[in-house]
Amino acid sequence: MDTILSKNFEFTTNFFENAITKSKLFHSYLLTGNNNIAKYAFALNIARILNCTGNKSENCECLNCKWIRTNSHPAVMTFSPIDFTHVNDKGQSKENITIAQARFIKEELSKTSTYHRVLIILDAIEGKEATSEYEELKKFNISPPIQVNTPEENRIWAPKSLKINIFSSDTANTLLKTIEEPFDRITFFFLANSKEDMLQTIVSRCQCVNIPSYPNLPNNFSIIEKITKNYPPKDDLTSLLIVEHIKKISQEFDMPLVKILEELENFYWKNLPNDLKNSRHYRGIVTFLNKLEKAKKQLESYVNTDSVLENLFLK
Ligand SMILES: [Zn+2]
Repeated sequence: MDTILSKNFEFTTNFFENAITKSKLFHSYLLTGNNNIAKYAFALNIARILNCTGNKSENCECLNCKWIRTNSHPAVMTFSPIDFTHVNDKGQSKENITIAQARFIKEELSKTSTYHRVLIILDAIEGKEATSEYEELKKFNISPPIQVNTPEENRIWAPKSLKINIFSSDTANTLLKTIEEPFDRITFFFLANSKEDMLQTIVSRCQCVNIPSYPNLPNNFSIIEKITKNYPPKDDLTSLLIVEHIKKISQEFDMPLVKILEELENFYWKNLPNDLKNSRHYRGIVTFLNKLEKAKKQLESYVNTDSVLENLFLK
């Protein structure tokens, strides 16, 4: 995997490398979290490793790796409202991912291929408004996808997360069977901020993997772990201590509260499989994860932060 990814997202990197080595890759993934660049970088890097005929290293010079680095590989396709638009009516970009694009995917996948095909479905922006994210993308040694009929040199492009209006039910219905049927050597990646931004019919057919947003914070997990030590709180005083602790971290690291909650989510998500045996503990964490999702939404809609945190942690 790319060094920046493996350094900053050690857990996710190991998770996917394991899945690839043991041939246990799912057919479809929903990558969530706010870090669009990292989500896209993961999808492309996995595509590269799956198609590499060399040593799979990030500097591998095999034809497939080179091809994927320039993002022009015929079997690694990025679909967004502004990519693969030549299959649309009049070849134009639309507001959303179209049924025509979904039909194209279906048709493409019905052909045989010697490659491991990877389809990345997301929203995207281009031009001036994409500049800062595009610079980020370059750090991952990733080029914007090549447009098929109107290739543009120096295309400024950046990945965005899907929303239900971008990937609507008509488009989804066209693809459901394709996503569901276990084709060999085909992997789908859907990129969204959270599961709520995707149709349930898609979510239920995907393995969801959350990519953390603040990977560079020093000792990220150890800070978060301290919060979790007191959870579930045994009394109201402990609850208030947790709330104070979170506010302190937020100030100290200049980290928005919503990001801290996200890190908490990542922490529990990471630890969830180990707790499967203890079903009460497992249910408790699942309930807490749902509460965290709700609290994040409230914080984003500017509900009083203290009351959101207190609701989250008070018994
Ligand atoms: Zn290679």
